[in-house]
Amino acid sequence: MRIGVLALQGGFVEHIITLQKLEIETFEIRKKQDLKQKFDGLIIPGGESTVIGKLLDELELFEHLQDLINKGVPTFGTCAGLILLANRFKAINIKVKRNAYGRQLGSFAVNAEFKDIGQIPMVFIRAPYIEKVGNEVETLSVVDEHIVAARQNHILVTAFHPELTSDTRVHRFFIEGITA
Ligand code: GLN
Repeated sequence: MRIGVLALQGGFVEHIITLQKLEIETFEIRKKQDLKQKFDGLIIPGGESTVIGKLLDELELFEHLQDLINKGVPTFGTCAGLILLANRFKAINIKVKRNAYGRQLGSFAVNAEFKDIGQIPMVFIRAPYIEKVGNEVETLSVVDEHIVAARQNHILVTAFHPELTSDTRVHRFFIEGITA
């Protein structure tokens, strides 16, 4: 099992550390050539979605990744990664509200239920939430009446950052989805 982590901007290192805890092999995706190797899944981290989106274009990574995602490579996006998977890659049919919690609640942590896992710690940083999901989308977690995690086929998204906690269960959930 080998997972590529998009490493252009934002919190990619924390994803790599979490995957290493699960003894999953990882590599960083920084340029087109990095996509030539074989891998089983992809992570798009949090950060600033506009910045990551711009870098994807400048580095000519966007089309290659779009191709892989369309071909069914399992992909997990957190926060900005969620925004990109929904709005740029059109890989999951959700309506996203960016910076949804306003200034006061820019960052916060809660414990909440995640489908098939149970209670997990969730860290939100200037997070989006999901306003609406299409029929083909499965809701995995709801916090304060807003959807914060969802899945559509091979695409998993969370508005929060599981990689910023010591809890590895959401990453394991992603990996188990690949091997199932
Ligand atoms: N606010 C950021 C955006 O809109 C997302 C924040 C994050 O990834 N932690 O892209």
